[in-house]
Amino acid sequence: MKTDKYIKNYINGELVDPIPNEYLDNYNPATGEVYSYIPNSDERDVELAVAAAKKAFPEWSRQPIAFRWGLLNRIADLIYQNLDLLAAAESEDNGKPVNLARTVDIPRAVENFRFFASAIKHFSSESHHMTSGAINYTLRRPLGAVACISPWNLPLYLFTWKIAPALAIGNTVVAKPSEVTPMTAYLLSKICIEAGLPPGVLNIVHGLGRKVGEAMVLSKEIKAISFTGGTETGKKIASLAAPLFKKMSLELGGKNPTLIFADCDFDRMIQTVLRSSFSNQGQICLCGSRILVQESLYERFKLAFLEKASLLRIGDPQSPDTQVGAVVSKEHQEKILSYIELAKEEGGRILLGGGIPEVNKRCSNGYFVEPTIIEGLDDHCRSNQEEIFGPVVSIAPFTDEEDALRKANASEYGLASSIWTENLSRAHKLAESIETGIVWINCWMLRDLRTPFGGMKNSGMGREGGWEVLRFFTEPKNVCIKYR
Ligand code: NDP
Repeated sequence: MKTDKYIKNYINGELVDPIPNEYLDNYNPATGEVYSYIPNSDERDVELAVAAAKKAFPEWSRQPIAFRWGLLNRIADLIYQNLDLLAAAESEDNGKPVNLARTVDIPRAVENFRFFASAIKHFSSESHHMTSGAINYTLRRPLGAVACISPWNLPLYLFTWKIAPALAIGNTVVAKPSEVTPMTAYLLSKICIEAGLPPGVLNIVHGLGRKVGEAMVLSKEIKAISFTGGTETGKKIASLAAPLFKKMSLELGGKNPTLIFADCDFDRMIQTVLRSSFSNQGQICLCGSRILVQESLYERFKLAFLEKASLLRIGDPQSPDTQVGAVVSKEHQEKILSYIELAKEEGGRILLGGGIPEVNKRCSNGYFVEPTIIEGLDDHCRSNQEEIFGPVVSIAPFTDEEDALRKANASEYGLASSIWTENLSRAHKLAESIETGIVWINCWMLRDLRTPFGGMKNSGMGREGGWEVLRFFTEPKNVCIKYR
């Protein structure tokens, strides 16, 4: 298996050129150079993919569970066997440290296939006995052809988080990775061919969101949309899909608070908060970008955090020692830097970073941003409200629990939070009142696939985990039998 200069669509079991025969440049963000080309597909490619998915559905959905289980595990095996290739490709596409791709992104993609392959073996639906002498049972059938649209920050991991459950329960899929990071999705198509996935069961169409993504959303044959991406794109998709009464799961942006109380385990906290701030250059929807620290601990935290963040090794993402790589694109680098300027205008003091670091020769034209720590921002200013999605965090003190909660909830987003305290009652109380779909206490980004995942408020809808994800991809029907 290898990467290719010209990426192809995967439609009806074959790797094919896009109908318009046009390609987009694919940049390596660490070097700023074009290293491959992405199909600039259009509605016609989507139509072919949807037709293939529709045709494959009856047979795929009728296959015995053991058959689907076997194929999904075979795909997982092949991803694992190609771990190094996939990690290098993801790092080259995205700018993330290869070590992060190798230890987090790709293993979690393997786990997505393994988990849902196993979950269908244990999936059950409900039955309700009525005293009047009737039984209701819920028949759950797969929906048909569904669309999966994913972002660039955790390319293969989030792509497979959608595809694996949809296929496992018997749907066929038309999927679009972000056009910014297409290579691992392309390698996945090769893996599916090698695994023997029947033609049309999974189709991958590359190209621009506004063209390919919208055509998928609007297609009459697409029964559900599973989308992860920005809140504005989520709104657009919802506005297109709602009048067509399609099922939707929208996993959107975040501006996550980290609450640090004076009684926390300081050493454990500081190591993890460093990760929750700057992992993947801050480009994880779950990163904590608003750090709130109890007054009495504030100065100690500030000193330790600044020192540790200043020691992070920024560099060539392909080097195994690198901790901070490139951000995903030039446009994104400019967006992050403009938010840092805005933060200054809004009264923020830059305590660390704020600019472009010097990186070795191979990466001298790459898109890097220094880990940046800002102090003095008002809770309601734009740079503390809008998602920057880069290695940029604000720190601020709070007085007590009530103040911490007020500040944490002062956001239109509600994806994730982390709370650092050794006081168990306080932790539970805050977990109940904080307005986020995920609450981590004394940890960050621990992920159990059986739990609901997703956000409140503007961070999305359709929070799912385990069975719920499988249920999302089914049509429930109530059957009532009167026996007396
Ligand atoms: P975008 O919303 O820009 O894009 C996401 C996907 O949607 C891409 O494949 C994109 O294609 C496609 N798309 C864009 N416009 C449309 C459209 N009109 N119709 C259909 N599809 C479209 O997000 P980013 O890729 O920039 O990802 C970053 C965002 O994702 C952040 O806001 C982050 O918080 C969020 N995210 C949320 C997560 C969660 O679980 N809640 C997890 C990870 C990220 P193209 O690339 O061609 O534009």
